[in-house]
Amino acid sequence: MQIMKKNYSPLKVITILCFTLFSLSVNAQGVVSSNGALSVSGTHIVNESGNIVSFAGNSMFWSNSTWGAEPFYNANVVNWLKNDWGSTIVRAAMGVGPENGGYLVDQTGNENRVKTIVDAAIAEDIYVIIDWHSHDAHNQQSEAIAFFTNMANLYGSYDNVIYEIYNEPTSCSWSNDVKPYAEAVIAAIRAVDPDNLIIVGSPTWSQDVDVASLDPITSSTNIAYTIHFYAGTHGTWERSKAQTAIDNGLALFCTEWGTVNANGDGAVDAVSTEQWMEFFCENSISHVNWHIHDKPEGSAAVIPGASPNGNWTSNDLTASGTLVKSLISGWPARNCEGDASVSDNDAISLNVYPNPFENTIHIEGEGYFEITVFDAMGKQILVDYGMNSISLNTNDLAQGSYILQLNSLQGVKRTKIAKL
Ligand code: MG
Repeated sequence: MQIMKKNYSPLKVITILCFTLFSLSVNAQGVVSSNGALSVSGTHIVNESGNIVSFAGNSMFWSNSTWGAEPFYNANVVNWLKNDWGSTIVRAAMGVGPENGGYLVDQTGNENRVKTIVDAAIAEDIYVIIDWHSHDAHNQQSEAIAFFTNMANLYGSYDNVIYEIYNEPTSCSWSNDVKPYAEAVIAAIRAVDPDNLIIVGSPTWSQDVDVASLDPITSSTNIAYTIHFYAGTHGTWERSKAQTAIDNGLALFCTEWGTVNANGDGAVDAVSTEQWMEFFCENSISHVNWHIHDKPEGSAAVIPGASPNGNWTSNDLTASGTLVKSLISGWPARNCEGDASVSDNDAISLNVYPNPFENTIHIEGEGYFEITVFDAMGKQILVDYGMNSISLNTNDLAQGSYILQLNSLQGVKRTKIAKL
């Protein structure tokens, strides 16, 4: 058994060195300078060289005036997320209204907060999403057209900028409500900016990408579709919808996700989060975590009272912020494992006992397999190999929850384990 170390082959060492050098060059040059304009190619996002790319970063909280997140809309936060978290993308979530303090009632305040984040992202050489953060955008079409026309005039020449024209439609129709709205707003943007990436939502809080994939937008190019998930609520069922959309030819881009429940609160679900990250990794899907704010709820990245200017220590981060920071910073070098569609496949044999365990845990699989154990932060802490069965001595593991992953010829399967 190996704890916290692996034996690396010369080839793997060279690969890691290349990754490191690549990361350094990206950091030195900036992710946008390195990749240039993004575009959709088949089911992927590609950079200016045509290489498949994906990015990981953070969403701001609702921008609404008086909702409390306004102080976090500043350049210091963007600088900190880039340099301390390794974020390569941020999202300005512009609350529209008619909720209190939204764009429809305070146009200048909200627009200025968006511009602050976009300008900061351009200065930091990272990507930025301009998000029409609404659940009712198809009833706000003329306002959205005016806003995005303005944004395209201001920012359409910057490769940094991505337009997200409808955060989360709810119970409306894709073909009758969202798609006609999207086509109208896309036409307005394209009249000014012919090329930057545009991301479209779908009904049921941007879960119905499979529905959209049956009637996709064909009026323009460089259109991607957002998939939103909250790990405590959404799992295999929604990933199968995402897989259907990909199989039908859509390029997906996760502009919002949470480690907790769909209401934005509750405990971090590290196992479900890991399953989603693996799916995204295997499909090269970018992801942007909700949210940067000190609101007292599970999805907030920092604790109440944390500075709105970054400079956060580990003590300033919530459980969600701690996990998300490790996922974002590890994203560029993350190794994907096989096919995500079988990550939680019932057909793959995996029996683990006792669970919870004290010192020794027995694992039964089928044929030759590799076992990897991740801690709650997604960090790999143990690797071993077996044929049909194996017993692991876990004396070196601290008490707590872990994710055990089995890789075999049959595929990949994960389960949660706990040490007493
Ligand atoms: Mg452009």
